[in-house]
Amino acid sequence: MKNIKDFSLEKLKEEFLLLGEKPYRAEQVFEWLYQKKATSFEEMTNLSLDLRENLKKHFAMHNFNILRKQESKDGTKKFLFDLLDGCAIETVLMEYHHGKTLCVSSQVGCKMGCKFCASTGIKFDRNLTSGEIVEQILAVEREENCTISNVVFMGIGEPFDNYDNVINAIRILNHPKGLNIGARHISISTSGIVPRIYDLAKENIPCTLSISLHATTNEKRSQMMPINKKYPIEELMKACKEYIKITNKRISFEYALAKENNDNLEDAKELVKLLRGMLAHVNLIPINKIENGVYVKSTNENILKFRDYLNSKGIVATVRRELGSDIDAACGQLRRKNLNT
Ligand code: SAH
Repeated sequence: MKNIKDFSLEKLKEEFLLLGEKPYRAEQVFEWLYQKKATSFEEMTNLSLDLRENLKKHFAMHNFNILRKQESKDGTKKFLFDLLDGCAIETVLMEYHHGKTLCVSSQVGCKMGCKFCASTGIKFDRNLTSGEIVEQILAVEREENCTISNVVFMGIGEPFDNYDNVINAIRILNHPKGLNIGARHISISTSGIVPRIYDLAKENIPCTLSISLHATTNEKRSQMMPINKKYPIEELMKACKEYIKITNKRISFEYALAKENNDNLEDAKELVKLLRGMLAHVNLIPINKIENGVYVKSTNENILKFRDYLNSKGIVATVRRELGSDIDAACGQLRRKNLNT
């Protein structure tokens, strides 16, 4: 059966027409789901009993169960959700001064194979549906009795490898009758699937695009991120420039600093050359070492030198705060886990 949370409002209206129901009823259902946070059709008391019965016959409503919840010393919380088919995914809630940010997963596992990331080395199972992406936010809001103000697609998976479901989920998050989270409060992070960068530029969704760059030469980037062999740096940067031209939006470049790998002044100089003149921001991430990983975090001194060099050359760079590392919830530490791992 179709999960009602898989539908954008426009698509839900079409479904309602097919069922012989009025489209404005779809708006009411949308409000129940995303504004009043209903978890069953029974609760939708301004709909007739007949309509509620009809909906129950045609749609499932998937509400996640929490398999595990962990809390870090810094207040970051990590949730493991049961996807009803034996799969599970992790989602991370972070507190910032500007509100609560949820780091959501887009796939069960990941095919990209980045050498520094814990989501590599676990089997890829499947894409998440739009409903499963949206439900990560709803389930955390229910559990924590809170409102999520920002959503980042930086959990497990490559959002651009599940493009349609991710975009559809963003439309549900973004809609005033949906979760009403402004596009400017939504970020998509990609390892660099170039054709989808051009696609996103045409969607007219002013969300933030983050590019996981991590290296400035093809040799080094291909070692760290196999996707670079398919879409090398020149093609990636060309797409980024086009994206900025079309959307007039700044791109955020993520650069995970690993000791004696990509953290010396030569790398910083190359990065300046790559980004010169672009509407860009650099997010420096002290790399988190993963089990059996070869990459080790740069020293604080090198991280700050790297940042200061970029800033001195007019490239805005900040160091990302490390949150949740004591519960394996920091960047790159998420895995698809089941209860006994
Ligand atoms: N597939 C998407 C989203 C992944 S995670 C992407 O590649 O962008 C979000 C960010 O965390 C990415 O920039 C990713 O490269 C980074 N990351 C992954 N593993 C990391 C690690 N061990 N330490 C620091 N950052 C890491």
